[in-house]
Amino acid sequence: MQPSQDLSHILTHEAEERSQYFQAVAPPIIQSSNFAYDTVDSFRQAMRDELAQPLYTRGANPTVSILRQKLAALEHTEDALVVGSGASAIAVAVMGNVRAGDHVICIQKPYSWTYKLIQNLLGRFGVESTFVDGRDVEAIKAAYRPNTRVLMLESPNSLTFELQDLEACAQWAKSKGVVTIIDNSYCSPIYQNPADFGIDIIVHSGTKYLNGHSDVVCGVICGAKAMIKQLFESEYMTLGTIISPNDAWLMLRGLRTLPIRLERSNDTALTLIEYLQKHPLVERVIHPFSSDFSQLELSHKQMRGAGGLFSVVFRCDDIEKMEKFCNAMTSHFLIAVSWGGYESLQIPTCIFYNDFMPNPILPASFVRYYVGLEDAAYLIEAFERNLPILES
Ligand SMILES: *Cc1c(COP(=O)(O)O)cnc(C)c1O
Repeated sequence: MQPSQDLSHILTHEAEERSQYFQAVAPPIIQSSNFAYDTVDSFRQAMRDELAQPLYTRGANPTVSILRQKLAALEHTEDALVVGSGASAIAVAVMGNVRAGDHVICIQKPYSWTYKLIQNLLGRFGVESTFVDGRDVEAIKAAYRPNTRVLMLESPNSLTFELQDLEACAQWAKSKGVVTIIDNSYCSPIYQNPADFGIDIIVHSGTKYLNGHSDVVCGVICGAKAMIKQLFESEYMTLGTIISPNDAWLMLRGLRTLPIRLERSNDTALTLIEYLQKHPLVERVIHPFSSDFSQLELSHKQMRGAGGLFSVVFRCDDIEKMEKFCNAMTSHFLIAVSWGGYESLQIPTCIFYNDFMPNPILPASFVRYYVGLEDAAYLIEAFERNLPILES
């Protein structure tokens, strides 16, 4: 099947067994904690495989299972789990593959809570770690130790967009028996399928593009059947960070428009970038498909698009002017964390230039933007009106 046909089937029909619920077009929210069985034997059978049959909603729930099946299909994997947040998805995937005395290799500058999980939390339980520049496959290989069990990737990251060569990483890790995990939140399955390059586990913050409406926090773990079952029977059931059936239903609703939303954000971001690159007050736009991006060739090799995130370094070394400019832009770009919703956002690094954070890494003239579903002309107008603040 063509990818687009495949996608249409997954988003509209996959896992929707309408004959089981009155031929309803929209799936039901099975808001029940518990599921009853007719006989001792049928209950016994269900207990043998709690992932396959609803028994208790901390395990399987029918509404959540529809979502799981669609997400697995979207990521070209056999199965998937949905958890209460992206941070939890990363924690379950990494913890499920290490024990005390093991070693994790992770890219430099991953998502902040990925760093805290590996460095602080797992460190407390005797798991060692090395953080390396993921742009350099040789640096990853050089960090290998005989006790290395996990290679944690994030390509691109969501601030400065460094990539890793997924095929090279997967090939090398397989030869060493190292499990590869990637945070694929940036691309979503619409623009990158790491399983096609041999990556073992794909995790997402479902809070971002997958839900897409800034109203659900959720995480996703995709992988082979055996791996998903292993994580389900251990970390998933033990830590219990599930999503509610109601939130799973909202996720299903959000997924219907995933490709349309991604395409819209992607196209609008490219239009804004074209405008910004020509502007005299812009020093540099950082985006994986910009002509001056240092890993442009790799972007084209493994990504089909980039979505709505990009960063800008402005020609301005006055923090007060930067702050004034960013405040004025809040009419169109809200100052907020997260991204992937309908609304455009900004994270100005001048936030960090006070006693809040010692030694900020990025210059105060740097702003990370997320472009939502608004019209390009509407967003450009905000830049056009407010950029002069930087030179006044
Ligand atoms: C937001 C985010 C996460 C964490 O997801 P939550 O749903 O907020 O827990 C992980 N990775 C990336 C790249 C993110 O942007």
